[in-house]
Amino acid sequence: MKCDKCAVEVSSEDKFEHSGQTLCEDCYLDVVTIPKTCDPWAVHSAKNTSLISDGLTAKQEEILDLIKKNGPLTAEEICTKLTLDSNEFRRNFATLRHMELARGFKRGNQVYYTLFSDPQEGS
Ligand SMILES: [Zn+2]
Repeated sequence: MKCDKCAVEVSSEDKFEHSGQTLCEDCYLDVVTIPKTCDPWAVHSAKNTSLISDGLTAKQEEILDLIKKNGPLTAEEICTKLTLDSNEFRRNFATLRHMELARGFKRGNQVYYTLFSDPQEGS
């Protein structure tokens, strides 16, 4: 039995059912504590990408790495550097946002993406 979200092995006594999905305790808590409507992309990407061991896909690691070294960056800059299309970027970024690893903020009329812990503020 595997968690539908993070693919971790779950025993039948540890599994949780939520809207047709089998989830581990962590993912279940995640789903029930964070309103789904705020983050449809994270749910989408969690279902459709294969996850590596720490819960991030290789793409998500790349995005995180890039903004760690060069951020804050705009979506265009990130897409160009990592050859992502904007949908792919949004989907992957939503997962990072969801995990509180990265966030977006507005500066002027441009949105920048940075690490969640980055103290920079948009105004
Ligand atoms: Zn899980």
